[in-house]
Amino acid sequence: MSQVSSTNPPSPADPNRKPAAPGVVPQKPAVPGHPAGLRPHAAVTVNAAGSAPLDVAPSAAPKPVTPGMPSGVKPLSAQIGMKPAAPGAPRPPVAGVKPMAPAAPGAGGTPVIDQLVGRQLGRILNKMGKVTREQYQEALAFQKSKGGALGRILIDLGYIKDQDLNIALAAQKGYEFFNVEGYKADPKVLAAIPAQMAMASKLLPISFDAAAKKLTVVMANHENFRALDDLKQLMGYTVIAKIGDPEAIERLVAKNYNTAAESLGDILGELSNDTSLKDLKGRGESIDLDALKDAADSNPVRKLINLVLLQAIKDKASDIHFEPFETEFKMRYRIDGVLYEMMPPPAHIAPAISSRIKVMSNLDIAERRVPQDGRIELNVNNQPVDLRVSVLPTMFGESVVMRVLDRGNVSLDLDKLGMREEDLNTFRQLIKKPNGIVIVTGPTGSGKTTTLYSALRELNDISTKLITAEDPVEYDIDGIIQCQIKPEIEMTFGRILRAMLRQDPDVVLVGEIRDKETAEIAIQASLTGHLVFSTLHTNDAPSAVARLLDLGIEPFLVTATLEGVCAQRLVRKICLKCKEAYVPAEEQLMELNLRLEDVAGRIFYYGKGCEACNNTGYRGRQGLYEFMLLDDEMRDMIVQHASTQQLRAESKKRGMRTLRQAGLLAIFDGVTTIEEVVKETLSEDD
Ligand SMILES: [Zn+2]
Repeated sequence: MSQVSSTNPPSPADPNRKPAAPGVVPQKPAVPGHPAGLRPHAAVTVNAAGSAPLDVAPSAAPKPVTPGMPSGVKPLSAQIGMKPAAPGAPRPPVAGVKPMAPAAPGAGGTPVIDQLVGRQLGRILNKMGKVTREQYQEALAFQKSKGGALGRILIDLGYIKDQDLNIALAAQKGYEFFNVEGYKADPKVLAAIPAQMAMASKLLPISFDAAAKKLTVVMANHENFRALDDLKQLMGYTVIAKIGDPEAIERLVAKNYNTAAESLGDILGELSNDTSLKDLKGRGESIDLDALKDAADSNPVRKLINLVLLQAIKDKASDIHFEPFETEFKMRYRIDGVLYEMMPPPAHIAPAISSRIKVMSNLDIAERRVPQDGRIELNVNNQPVDLRVSVLPTMFGESVVMRVLDRGNVSLDLDKLGMREEDLNTFRQLIKKPNGIVIVTGPTGSGKTTTLYSALRELNDISTKLITAEDPVEYDIDGIIQCQIKPEIEMTFGRILRAMLRQDPDVVLVGEIRDKETAEIAIQASLTGHLVFSTLHTNDAPSAVARLLDLGIEPFLVTATLEGVCAQRLVRKICLKCKEAYVPAEEQLMELNLRLEDVAGRIFYYGKGCEACNNTGYRGRQGLYEFMLLDDEMRDMIVQHASTQQLRAESKKRGMRTLRQAGLLAIFDGVTTIEEVVKETLSEDD
């Protein structure tokens, strides 16, 4: 033990440790530091490039210029040498544009963008008057023999310039080209989107109609659908997109948003000073609906929510909480299972925030007396993110919790759950049985779903039919039929399950056995030759039996179908970057019922806190598992109404490793800390 420092590390609950970021109020029980939540320079990770259909309002196929065109916007028709058609006036033929083919009868010979969308590049350039038919043919021949992109070849041949190609490519996709060179930005327009978003997505807003919520942006890449979607969803704008020169846009974005990314603090300051929002304070249920709508629609409120969401996703928060109290309004993130308090927004904006979130999730903002549930779908960093929104009216306003279902972020690999090898073997044997019920138990947030999905993913091949009934559907997996429970239209677990069994499945996942009906259907499915996966809320594996009996299931049906139960918990893993050995104090060991002599030769570790872990000392989580397998003797015990304690004792005799024991092994492996195991698992004597 000589290599081990003998000083006790500051316990992760040491109140003397400073929060990592300014403005962060430590959560009680205090956890050192703070996960990145409020660092002012935290980059937002919304970005570009995707292939989803662009569903942003009139961005595609812009209309010929109308008098309302923002200053600095040159219509494509002007760029390509055409005169803008005055509304209503007949379109004059344009000098210098030789249509490649005879114009359609009645078209008047003026190529407008509508006629360029989707055309071949050479044809568009020809219509723009930039290349002749001969030059185009020459380039085509060149391309045929040497390969390469046609536009590039035309540039190399000296027929067109880069700029011409950009315009033509934009036109091909139905976008107008906007020349940002020399464009002078209007601060009011710039403020329409958060700086982080502009910088991350290389978007420059060029006109903003606040009343109509219509925003025109110029972007570097016509494939930047995601950013446009986010603008629409997060800010609620109608977005018109134009294409511009990437380098010039980047330069202008950097220049105009040069003040370090707007921090949560800046926006909160803006909100505190916003007099129009102050009116809402203290008016409770009597708030005027129009005032509420306006507040929810106000730009600082949108920006705040936008920033909060992006930050939460970046920090891999699983839940975002907005909590109104009598004199304050709290905002908290749950990360790796622990709640962290963020810099609190001014209390008077609580109604504006909850209303904004309700608007985003299609809830009724006029309804402020009963709970509501909704969802928001977003694309962040090219990953689909699903937010489950729950609004609960409380004494002091609406409490809003958003659960983040980040579908892109989970590997769903059994080998990566943190199961020990012998547990993995046990679990694999269980999930490969032809029929029976396999249950994973644990409290909410203990990783049950991830475990079952990883099992499904492993079984997912062409020879096996897998169906799930879930609420909510948390991950999309190709090849698995997934059904969402929708009680409002009578799509209940029971109804879906009965229908599922007629779909000839091999494996059925029932999101949760929550009542007698679901339990009975699960049993029926198992008895008719299906393998059934489900979850239960119990503290340990042996309690699952009692829970099923409590639901009113006959003991003989439980024993006829239940194959095994896996109880699980998640513990935070020590950050590898700042992991250090230390000698725990005797009191700390006593919390695990260990004496000094029990741990002779063992090395304990903790995370000192570093930048990589935002000074928490932890990074990521892994599971602790407890497997109870049923054999004939155990089944007899169940039929004879054995108690949970008796079942637990019998299982342990058969080698069941309890959650606490699994936790001890994880500590001895140097994966987690004493605190985590004490917090997540029960003592053996309980
Ligand atoms: Zn660290």
